[in-house]
Amino acid sequence: MKVIRAQSAGFCWGVERAINIARGLASDGGEDRRVYTDGPLIHNRQMMERMEAEGVREVGDYQSQSEIEIDQKNQDEDSVLVVRAHGISPERRQYLKSLDLPFNDATCPDVGIIAGKIKNHARKGYDIVVFGDPEHPEVIGLMGYAEGRGHVVCSLDDVEALPAFSGGVCMVSQSTMFSHEYKALVDRVFEKYPQAQIFDTICGATKERQSGVSDLVEQGAEAIIVIGGRHSANTRKLVKLAESYEKPTFHIETAEELNADIFGRFETIGVTAGASTPEFIIQSVCERLEAV
Ligand code: SF4
Repeated sequence: MKVIRAQSAGFCWGVERAINIARGLASDGGEDRRVYTDGPLIHNRQMMERMEAEGVREVGDYQSQSEIEIDQKNQDEDSVLVVRAHGISPERRQYLKSLDLPFNDATCPDVGIIAGKIKNHARKGYDIVVFGDPEHPEVIGLMGYAEGRGHVVCSLDDVEALPAFSGGVCMVSQSTMFSHEYKALVDRVFEKYPQAQIFDTICGATKERQSGVSDLVEQGAEAIIVIGGRHSANTRKLVKLAESYEKPTFHIETAEELNADIFGRFETIGVTAGASTPEFIIQSVCERLEAV
């Protein structure tokens, strides 16, 4: 079988950077050092298991909202805490810094840029409109910079429901949203608030992954395999995008889920992967498909 791999499949630079920070801290410490991450560092069970063996341990919750319980008695005094690529709110930062653990920030710089735009505009009195998933940790963190004037929208209906703001309006997007959906909402926001300051904050890595799916179709993929954690939001978005091309689309976590009976009927298959999918899994999937 011919396998076409998307040009930008797998770890984005922000996730890779966060992983390197956590791994570096683990290997630089003593044998008993624990590197605690405020929620899962990435949404990939296989990679998290590998990192756990290196001393990286998830604490807290997915949304970075719950109190962190660390067994202070059994904790090595060398242990440290790491913030994920998704980033956190100023309140969460204050809370984490109040814990008795050295604090390390692995927030993706692209998320930091969005937070900066929100902070600057909120300080000037703007209302802030964020296109994103209100339950996603990145959006929860970003809303913390809006000084109580943040509004999350995920649809045109949400934009219609926004009030008539008396001052300025600033609009940003969660870094991993679809560009075409953001554009549709931006057009409507401009109609409602002609003076709105709009920023395209969908990150470059996300755009590359999204255009990579259409490239696979253009190169003749008859079906598309998207590799990534079942709970990974950006992987699920890639699945939705691939399905929109009306190609058979398969979301898998590992090569073990490949069924030769199903994939044997295709001559050319496209492979892409979410931003939290490690290279060793992508390679094993491609190798297994090539052998079909
Ligand atoms: S998806 Fe984009 S914003 Fe998010 S961690 Fe990766 S590079 Fe950073």
